[in-house]
Amino acid sequence: MTKVPIRPSVAALPAYQPGARSSGRLFHKLSSNESPYPPLPGVMAAVADSAADINRYPSMMADELAGAIARLHDLEPEQVAVGAGSVAVLGHLLAAVAGPGDRVAYPWRSFEAYPILTGVTGAEAVTVPLGPGGRLDLPALAGALDERTRAAVICTPNNPTGPAVRQDEFDAFMAAAPDDLLVVLDEAYVEFVTDPEAVDGIGSLAKYPNLVVARSFSKAYGLAGLRVGYALGRPRLISAVRAVTVPFSVSAMAEKAAITSLQLQDELRERVAGLVERRSFAFGALQAQGWQPPEPQGNFVWLDLGADAMPFAEACRRAGVLVRPFPNEGVRVSIGERAGVEQFLATASTWV
Ligand SMILES: *Cc1c(COP(=O)(O)O)cnc(C)c1O
Repeated sequence: MTKVPIRPSVAALPAYQPGARSSGRLFHKLSSNESPYPPLPGVMAAVADSAADINRYPSMMADELAGAIARLHDLEPEQVAVGAGSVAVLGHLLAAVAGPGDRVAYPWRSFEAYPILTGVTGAEAVTVPLGPGGRLDLPALAGALDERTRAAVICTPNNPTGPAVRQDEFDAFMAAAPDDLLVVLDEAYVEFVTDPEAVDGIGSLAKYPNLVVARSFSKAYGLAGLRVGYALGRPRLISAVRAVTVPFSVSAMAEKAAITSLQLQDELRERVAGLVERRSFAFGALQAQGWQPPEPQGNFVWLDLGADAMPFAEACRRAGVLVRPFPNEGVRVSIGERAGVEQFLATASTWV
């Protein structure tokens, strides 16, 4: 037994539960909200090209990519912090503003990295339950803030339930929140949003100096395996994120893949449109079967199965589909390859 003391907040961290993985092609993997597509055209060649230089360190802070992201969103490079996945960037952001004695607030059930990232800072998590229809309850979140709360994290569309926060809900929250509270909008699935009333995170940056928007290359862009994400906000907040970021954490291959992908907006839109169409098909089919899923705005659907979550996931597995169960809550199913979605729907039809 080692006698080295572990910080109590670290010893108490919940374990991240990854989506089920399969080796080989025996299963349709709809458990991690990944893209079912191969990399966008030219991305594999760009990665192979930069692989020739893996004896060299990459750029310390992926500045070329930060510049490309800034141009895409019409922002300054000083407003962009790139990291090894948006989960890493979110962790750096929270570490920059919160520590022992502070609080971090977020609605729950939401993205399961939040309790872990909060716990690592030593701050205490404050959660509020979701409202009806799997929607975030932002008035409740505003009511949970106190003078010790240093950050609020809002996931839109909410993983795993699916609805997006509306602009009017968000503006009301910002009006109620103190202007020195860091508000993080986690937009990992923003490319899939079709709700015209959904919050416009980047469009809201100019209005709210305490807002940071987090984005990912892991979902719509299909680069989950390379680990790239970023945060957008005021230069002072972004330089704090950079100060906390582990240098050289984004590989040159990841940086090149992301830069190449950013130049392929038309191809990206086409893929996203295909997945959104498949999402509508699945949502409609589930409703026709008698389910009442929350409105899906990401690349996944949610079934509120309660105690049936684990048995349902097991039934899907027997049918060759890996889904993501949350015990006693529900099951999240990614909109991936068509055959997998159809097989999931066939299983769902036997359940109602
Ligand atoms: C998948 C996901 C991310 C992205 O994580 P990466 O580290 O960029 O792969 C961030 N937030 C939410 C809510 C997610 O579901």
